[in-house]
Amino acid sequence: MGRSRSGRVVAYGYGDPVLDGSSDAPASVDWGTEVAAVYWDWGDRAAFEELITQAQQWPTARVLVRRWSDLGETAIALSQRLNQLTALGIEVVAIASAATDPLGQWEEVQREGRSRQIGRGHAIARLEGRPPPGRAPFGYRRGRGRYVLDRAAAVIVRDLVEHFLLYGSLRGAVRHIRDRHGQTVAVATGRRWLTSPVYRGELVYKTGDRVPNAHPAIISPGDAAQIDRLLRRNQPLGPRAASAPRSLAGLVRCDRCGCPMTISATNTRQGKGHYLYLRPTACGDRDRGERPCPAAPYDRILTLAIARICGDLPVAIGPPGAAPDPRAIAAHLADAIAAKENLLAQLPDLEAQGIFDRDSARLRSAHLRTEIAALQAERSRLPPGSLTDLAGAIVLPRFWHDLSETERRFYFREFIRTIRILHRDRQWQVSAINFAFHPAPPSPP
Ligand SMILES: [Zn+2]
Repeated sequence: MGRSRSGRVVAYGYGDPVLDGSSDAPASVDWGTEVAAVYWDWGDRAAFEELITQAQQWPTARVLVRRWSDLGETAIALSQRLNQLTALGIEVVAIASAATDPLGQWEEVQREGRSRQIGRGHAIARLEGRPPPGRAPFGYRRGRGRYVLDRAAAVIVRDLVEHFLLYGSLRGAVRHIRDRHGQTVAVATGRRWLTSPVYRGELVYKTGDRVPNAHPAIISPGDAAQIDRLLRRNQPLGPRAASAPRSLAGLVRCDRCGCPMTISATNTRQGKGHYLYLRPTACGDRDRGERPCPAAPYDRILTLAIARICGDLPVAIGPPGAAPDPRAIAAHLADAIAAKENLLAQLPDLEAQGIFDRDSARLRSAHLRTEIAALQAERSRLPPGSLTDLAGAIVLPRFWHDLSETERRFYFREFIRTIRILHRDRQWQVSAINFAFHPAPPSPP
């Protein structure tokens, strides 16, 4: 109304603790000008009340907000707070909003309110481990707040899994459930059943958040590990596998020059796959006109190394306890998981006692579930057992080939010091393996 405004410029913002998560939002806003104070609310309007109280003591000319919805999630709440501010002669500016007149402001608030309400519903479902919207996957139906088994369909999924575990053929397993149950599914669907986290009891949201043990699993953790192993063996090395830590990394040396070999990947000409090579880092004395040793195909060296390990290991392995035992690590991880599950179980009590409010309890529980999932994933990557227990298996190349590179890496790193390879007569050979738990054999003169 032409009244001249003088006084402080302050900023006000509002965040939803569930939807907006972290509490560093005020610092991340660029208000475009210097502000005397930032008032920031999380879930309630305490800071807004403080703003009103302080504006009565110190003349305040302007309040900056990002959007009109910072002042209220409904048109009524917005107009009430706008009235409170204008009654004190304060101008309100929404720095990130195009709406200037009341109608535009209300429309904006209503539009944002709706989408935030939907987002809030999804966020709460996620924090509480409820399934995402939509139909339940085959094998389940929607129960009260979680998936429950649809027994008739779950039996079919289970049959596909068991057939695959027995024969290792995805196509065969798909044919089997067609013949036995009259259930026709595409091979891609069969693969999804084998690999989907849902059948392993996990929920995965579009945001990438995972909730383990959200509902009864159709595939046990042991079967899941076996499925992953079988699928990996049937597959050529993908780009991801090629960049994963390799079991031979850091272990191989050229026996002629003694130099370490590093691993490098080469794309095939069609770009369809990867070839891995071991390349010498400092082979051949060029000053003396020596040619460097050639690069060695990774898979060939791995096969040769495994054959050699199968021959040498039983002699080298020595008494029990000399070799690493993944079960000790698994037990340690199990303790950590149990401790976190214990905390998770106490949350409802803490909330009831008022130590946590509802939203903090939800956030804390989502956080704990994520940590538990990470520990479980770590545990599932551990190889099957201690080497001394596996005495019968470790002499079989098949045992080593069935392990994933990560699992092999665990054993290799623990018990092998170096693998020496030699290129002779146009052939690669593994000339020696030095085991960590065995005195290194005397090197030839
Ligand atoms: Zn060399």
